[in-house]
Amino acid sequence: MKPVIALVGRPNVGKSTLFNRLTKSRDAIVADFAGLTRDRHYGDGRLGDREFIVIDTGGFEPDSSTGIVKEMAKQTKQAVAEADAVIFVVDIRLGLSAHDSDIARYLRSVNKRVHLAVNKAEGMSDSPLLAEFHELGMGEPHPISSAHGQGIRSLLDAVLEPF
Ligand code: GDP
Ligand code: MG
Repeated sequence: MKPVIALVGRPNVGKSTLFNRLTKSRDAIVADFAGLTRDRHYGDGRLGDREFIVIDTGGFEPDSSTGIVKEMAKQTKQAVAEADAVIFVVDIRLGLSAHDSDIARYLRSVNKRVHLAVNKAEGMSDSPLLAEFHELGMGEPHPISSAHGQGIRSLLDAVLEPF
């Protein structure tokens, strides 16, 4: 069985860009509009001879209770339930937000392996800005650039290691 990896995080952090990078597809819709990818979206990924399935999700808004946003949270929770591992994506340029902390709290309540990917970190792999993400209690933050393909292999090595 291929391991299933869910990409989770608030809107606009770069989940769909990471999905495209991992699946080498242009399928996921990448946009400057927060929350455009509203449904779960599956793709096949490969690292060397290791294969996995990736699930892209819409934004995660656990505290909101209205319409589409609630539906997005539901889809994301279903994706997490289906996954063997979760990549929790945050944005180094926006920094840590209350919303990230809410997601971290949710992820701690489910019994899944979670890896913290700090995206948009091109050229910032040694940045002191990374340190604040330790606060999320999700282990060592992995600096990545989904857009530029930096840090992806080292993240995937950690994610796939148990499988
Ligand atoms: P999602 O809402 O989490 O799926 O985010 P998207 O993948 O749609 O990306 C949101 C925005 O962030 C887009 O404008 C992307 O081009 C941009 N983006 C994604 N990854 C990176 C990255 O590694 N570096 C930078 N600078 N921008 C990125
Ligand atoms: Mg998206």
